Amino acid sequence: MIAILGAGSLGRLWAAKLPAGQVAFVPRPEQSAKQLAYKLRPLQGPDEQVIVPWLDYSQPTSLLIVTTKAGDTVNALAPILARFPSDTPIVLFQNGLGSQQRVAETWPDRPVLAATTTEGANRPEAGLTIHAGQGETWVGALTTTGKIHLTNSVSLLALSSLTVHAEQDILSKLWQKLIINAGINAFTAILNCPNGEILAHPFYLQWISPLCDEISKLMSASRQKEQSAKAIQNAIETVARRTARNTSSMRADILAGRNTEIDFINGYLVRLGQDYGIDTPVNQMLTEQVKQLN
Ligand code: NAP
Repeated sequence: MIAILGAGSLGRLWAAKLPAGQVAFVPRPEQSAKQLAYKLRPLQGPDEQVIVPWLDYSQPTSLLIVTTKAGDTVNALAPILARFPSDTPIVLFQNGLGSQQRVAETWPDRPVLAATTTEGANRPEAGLTIHAGQGETWVGALTTTGKIHLTNSVSLLALSSLTVHAEQDILSKLWQKLIINAGINAFTAILNCPNGEILAHPFYLQWISPLCDEISKLMSASRQKEQSAKAIQNAIETVARRTARNTSSMRADILAGRNTEIDFINGYLVRLGQDYGIDTPVNQMLTEQVKQLN
């Protein structure tokens, strides 16, 4: 059985795509229902009815997929992890950085892996999950024992028929996504606009260059591949143009009154700056402004 912790948008997408009968959601302690039913609107074709059972712990679990928000992940894993054998691979799907390291540090002997995905899913109404964008998923090990389970974890995820790759340097992949999120998400939330509109806004134009300067210094200090501030800005703006009409997850969270993942994006960069003695006033300002919106 493949277990999924976090029956939200991304968790429901994976549950719908993995073979029926081989996937179950990890129940919260208070969960009493036997199964979760919802509709999946695929990229093409009619809506599909999906029924996913809540996990029965007596069944052996080959993989634990974690699709909680970054800020919930350690607290969600802590009460349930002892119920899984110590060699069950755990694949973390959180955006940003910081939460993955916390899991790997808390359970260093477990096979912990991280994934980054460009698949998109959302839930515009209760009972409906939309597969909003086709993408790819990269998975790599965070702990020593995670390396042993990489090939098998990728094979299990690929049963979904979504595109999944093994990635030897997952941290670098997570950093590349962090750069983009750090340069787009907070601006779209603060300016309350789709991704492409930030590019002409005076607030963005004032802060993007010093922001990229901070990120470039932090990447060097973290022993990531050196990238100039200009190259980072180009990468951010290429994605902002390509996704011009999209609403970022951070803007969507603010509009829906949900907590954002700012602490694991610009907030993570602020904490890293404190560790390395690098000033991060722009990341700090963006983090504070997004928190005020909450
Ligand atoms: P989401 O819809 O908010 O789903 C998170 C789910 O986790 C919710 O159903 C939540 O339940 C559940 N949860 C929270 N605490 C829990 C606990 N202690 N035990 C069990 N379940 C718990 O978020 P999402 O959009 O799926 O995103 C999940 C993660 O994937 C985020 O880090 C996001 O950045 C990343 N991601 C998402 C997408 C996407 O397209 N959605 C794409 C790439 C990456 P409640 O609702 O009851 O609190």
